[in-house]
Amino acid sequence: ERINFVDFFHHVIDRFEMNKREDIAFERYLPKEEAFISIDKDKIMQVLDNIISNAIKYSPDGGTIRFRLRKDSQKLLISISDEGMGIAYEKLDKIFERFYRTDKARTRKLGGTGLGLAIARDLVEAHHGVIWAESKEGRGTTVLFTIPLNRKRGEVR
Ligand code: ATP
Ligand code: MG
Repeated sequence: ERINFVDFFHHVIDRFEMNKREDIAFERYLPKEEAFISIDKDKIMQVLDNIISNAIKYSPDGGTIRFRLRKDSQKLLISISDEGMGIAYEKLDKIFERFYRTDKARTRKLGGTGLGLAIARDLVEAHHGVIWAESKEGRGTTVLFTIPLNRKRGEVR
């Protein structure tokens, strides 16, 4: 389905913003121009839900969550940053494995099964994209993913 990703992303963020804890703030850095792309909307919605749920769950009181969207000639780059406890460098890849939860997540007794990011990775890869995380322990986490625009051959820009 071909959609304007900017509108779609705003809608997903709006839904979380209406229901969010009052002690966290949202900031959006999305382009004003349209960004059309062919995606399975339900599946990318699931990816965003899983990442945003984590950002909220692992945010401290007073934390800010930042939403970013960049577009280049090849792809969309979506990123969601929080100011939570962060993830140790050596664990950054493991969080995308099924049932993996860091010690900090467990010791803080935050609910979850450890499937959210594994599902997100499968869905992003089904769109031929890449997903990864960057983090500074104690400072916050950013989860990023790409979706290629895969413009059809011969299509005019
Ligand atoms: P589920 O999503 O299935 O309810 P979960 O949130 O524990 O459970 P994932 O979403 O797959 O599972 O995340 C895996 C682990 O990665 C988490 O348990 C947590 O340790 C770590 N993690 C994920 N996102 C963040 C984040 N934003 N900040 C800190 N740690 C995170
Ligand atoms: Mg999760």
